Amino acid sequence: MKKSQIKMLSFIKSFRFRAFFIVALLVIVPVLTSSSFIYHMSVDAYIDKKIDRFKVNNTMLKNSIVSEGYLDENNDSQVVETQIAQLSGEYNCRIQIINSQYVVVSDTETGETGKTSISENVIRSIDGENVFIENKDEYYVEFAEPLVIADPTSDNNKNSNIIGAVYIHYSMEDVISYKDTLERYVIIADILLIIFAFVAAWLCSVLFNRPIKKMHQSIRRITLGQTENEKHGKETLEVTEISEEFSRLVEKMKTQDKSRQEFVSNVSHELKTPLTSMKVLAESLIGNQGVPEELYQEFLQDICKEIDRENEIITDLLDLVKMEKTDVEINISSVNINEILETVLKRLKPIAESKNIELVFESFRPVIADVDELKFASVATNLVENAIKYNNTDGTVTVSLNSDHQYFYLKVIDTGIGIAEEDQEHVFERFFRVDKARARQTGGTGLGLAITKDIVLKHHGSIKIHSKEGEGTTFIVRIPLKYIA
Ligand code: ADP
Repeated sequence: MKKSQIKMLSFIKSFRFRAFFIVALLVIVPVLTSSSFIYHMSVDAYIDKKIDRFKVNNTMLKNSIVSEGYLDENNDSQVVETQIAQLSGEYNCRIQIINSQYVVVSDTETGETGKTSISENVIRSIDGENVFIENKDEYYVEFAEPLVIADPTSDNNKNSNIIGAVYIHYSMEDVISYKDTLERYVIIADILLIIFAFVAAWLCSVLFNRPIKKMHQSIRRITLGQTENEKHGKETLEVTEISEEFSRLVEKMKTQDKSRQEFVSNVSHELKTPLTSMKVLAESLIGNQGVPEELYQEFLQDICKEIDRENEIITDLLDLVKMEKTDVEINISSVNINEILETVLKRLKPIAESKNIELVFESFRPVIADVDELKFASVATNLVENAIKYNNTDGTVTVSLNSDHQYFYLKVIDTGIGIAEEDQEHVFERFFRVDKARARQTGGTGLGLAITKDIVLKHHGSIKIHSKEGEGTTFIVRIPLKYIA
């Protein structure tokens, strides 16, 4: 495709052209339709008025012919003659008066006076019919009407005598000149209106396009990194709102991108740490010849621990990625929450006992709720595991379960080390650990609470934390009893 063709095509596709085209069409079509309608109506009305007036004159002529006895022998009534001359002069029409023997008594056009009329219309009218023919295409009308003498002895006109007929051929040439004049006016008016329509369409297209152009500029400014405060001019409310919304979207995307980058670098770092440890341990074994057997054992055990840790991180990462998928399937079913919690506590009891930590389960009422059994069990496990992990020896972990008509509440309360105020809002972030050095000993990945929160949110629930450093931590999970997808 040629450059000019591409330009043309993009112009046709532009909003400005479309606005111009639509407005022009909206003005021009009704204007042309109505002007053509008005034109035809005026011509018809003009013709109808002419014919009506003519009919009145014609009736007067007929009355005079009858009353003056114009068709009687040797009667050449001046009154009738004058009337005929006036009517034919004024309307430029041909008038014939025919007697009952079909003989033309008078004709305004020479040639037929005294001759017998063989016109079909005349014959029909002498038979008593009022003939009226209107030809609007060729602009003429024909009248052939009987001349009737009323019988004075009769109550009605049933026995009236037809003494002849009047035949008139009225060629409405003046209508043609009226039509031509009207046509000229209509064309001039149409041209003026079309010009007006184009100007209005152009103005509208410019006006409609202005906010879009401004929006484009505004978005470009935002894309170039300028903040919305730097925008100038008198943007319309909609443009300001859209640019502000766009600005917010860009900010959100920037934040998401930043957190994605942080996540990737955290993942790499976390995955590299056990590998580095393993390499150091392996290298020191390779580099030192004749190392005692016990040291080999110890180093290999350390390598195994690092492999377990790597495995743990990868498993947690996979869980997290799975949970973050928007279309992740959760297998909701009606589940006995008390039973799940009892099972979890039973499983974790040996770990708690190893630290001499007491595990207490307080159930205020039996709770049946719509949850994904496995995922909810992992929430409870994570929270209770943490409560044990970050607890002091001889401490207590209390798990309490309660519900109202809408939600059930799981509280995991420990008497452990607690979390500093400033760290509390970060504990749900991926890879966040309050004490990284300690985490290496306790074996945490920093992903447990992030996964827990994701699962709770997938159940349309919420998770809150209350903690005081040195005193202990409480996690409160609230989940709806009925799951609504
Ligand atoms: P981790 O695998 O490190 O336990 P989590 O995401 O479960 O990862 O927890 C994140 C951090 O929050 C932990 O490293 C710990 O510092 C802190 N934390 C979580 N639960 C508790 C708790 N019950 N008491 C004190 N600190 C806690």
